[in-house]
Amino acid sequence: MTNSNEINKTGWNLDNSYARLPETFFSEQKPTPVRSPELVILNDQLAESLGLEAETLRNEEAVNIFAGNDVPEGASPLAQAYAGHQFGHFTMLGDGRAVLIGEQMTPGGERVDIQLKGSGRTPYSRGGDGRAALGPMLREYIISEAMFALGIPTTRSLAVVTTGEAVIRETDLPGAILTRVASSHLRVGTFEYATRFGDSKDLKALADYTIQRHFPSLKSDGQRYLSLLQEVTKRQAKLISQWQLVGFIHGVMNTDNVTLSGETIDYGPCAFMDTYDPETVFSSIDVQGRYAYGNQPYIGGWNLARFAETLLPLLQDDQEEALKLAQDVISNFSEMFRNYWMEGMRAKLGLFEADDQDESIIEGLLSMMKKHQADFTNTFRALTMENYEDLTFSSTDDFKKWYELWQTRRSRQGESHEDSQQLMRKHNPVVIPRNHRVEEALDAAVENGDYSVMKRLLAVLSSPFAYTEDQEEYCTPPEPSDRPYRTYCGT
Ligand code: AMP
Ligand code: MG
Repeated sequence: MTNSNEINKTGWNLDNSYARLPETFFSEQKPTPVRSPELVILNDQLAESLGLEAETLRNEEAVNIFAGNDVPEGASPLAQAYAGHQFGHFTMLGDGRAVLIGEQMTPGGERVDIQLKGSGRTPYSRGGDGRAALGPMLREYIISEAMFALGIPTTRSLAVVTTGEAVIRETDLPGAILTRVASSHLRVGTFEYATRFGDSKDLKALADYTIQRHFPSLKSDGQRYLSLLQEVTKRQAKLISQWQLVGFIHGVMNTDNVTLSGETIDYGPCAFMDTYDPETVFSSIDVQGRYAYGNQPYIGGWNLARFAETLLPLLQDDQEEALKLAQDVISNFSEMFRNYWMEGMRAKLGLFEADDQDESIIEGLLSMMKKHQADFTNTFRALTMENYEDLTFSSTDDFKKWYELWQTRRSRQGESHEDSQQLMRKHNPVVIPRNHRVEEALDAAVENGDYSVMKRLLAVLSSPFAYTEDQEEYCTPPEPSDRPYRTYCGT
């Protein structure tokens, strides 16, 4: 039995607004207890921002909560129902290995989902065991926290506990549970579920709930469902532009992994690109390259079209008219994306205002990077630091011409060279979670129980724009290898 005073001292302050949606959207579901939970990593800063006392979270009672052996006061645990298009095909999904504990009301007045991932079977588990392995949960922790530090909207990681139980994959692996924090887990797939399995009241309830939760200013909007589509489109366009600007490849942009909040979610087969190549794919199951780096913006548009379809009944009685309205919004996606991306690329090159020459400057650089197989992050870092000799293509005529064009363009703007360089420093990260560094940290943790490598990596990744000397060693790309880096889903 839990001592509830102990838990309240921790600072849990839960509400359960999602549980007040029509019951078709979830199944009440407690996490399945595990044998011997042990806290292996805790995000102290995130805990504090949630109003949770980090020291108390290390107590046995709190660790039991992270493990799903106990639930905090005020929790109403449930598994969410959702569907989605996976690699283009519609499927019924749902939280097969996750449970929403509740929504923490933070001291800053925010409402955030507290979800346990790897917490046991649910009615949506299908053939799965409902569990997660330690390596992939630590991987999600590292990459999501790196994304946060890069300023990219993302779900976050509060804690990982090991369960003391093995999960059976190709081999036996140590089991673990991740506590994920998200501004919500509402997905395009939640709407697809409502359309397919709910009635019109369910769909409306979900849309109103989404507006209330993420776009409260739209409540009094006469065309609020169309505005919802517009806002979600805008957030996704911005989000995907941010991924492109740091070389992040999500790897599994199925519609169930597209949030309405505009946060990056589901760190399965994702990875950062080293060498710039739009065709880069890391995921072992993405054999067609559907979710390749260069395809992400198109897939973003495709996913939003699936969202738009679900909203048609709410837009207008006349479905032809509704379709036209939705198409107008969706057809803006690529331009919206392009504008965000251009703005970001300009900043990466120290350019403040838009100019007719920008496109040729940006495309010119990218084509040299592609031709000379340049490292994406280090190219922008070298340009920022004016260490041109670090560029693989610095001695080419192409670069000399490009450099002249770029410098002339920079000198034409009103801002000083220092301001321009400052802008570049704010937009070109020195460190990203490079795959070989992530693997090294995971190996030490999973094979030897040594978390020091991961903690050092996390510390470096927490200030990606610092340009300090201790970051240098994390900038080295991996040794060239015959075997491309591969990532795995369903991990
Ligand atoms: P994901 O690839 O993580 O987006 O998961 C796709 C679907 O598979 C979701 O419905 C998950 O809940 C489900 N799933 C993934 N792994 C498991 C597992 N080990 N047990 C049960 N369901 C799972
Ligand atoms: Mg998913």
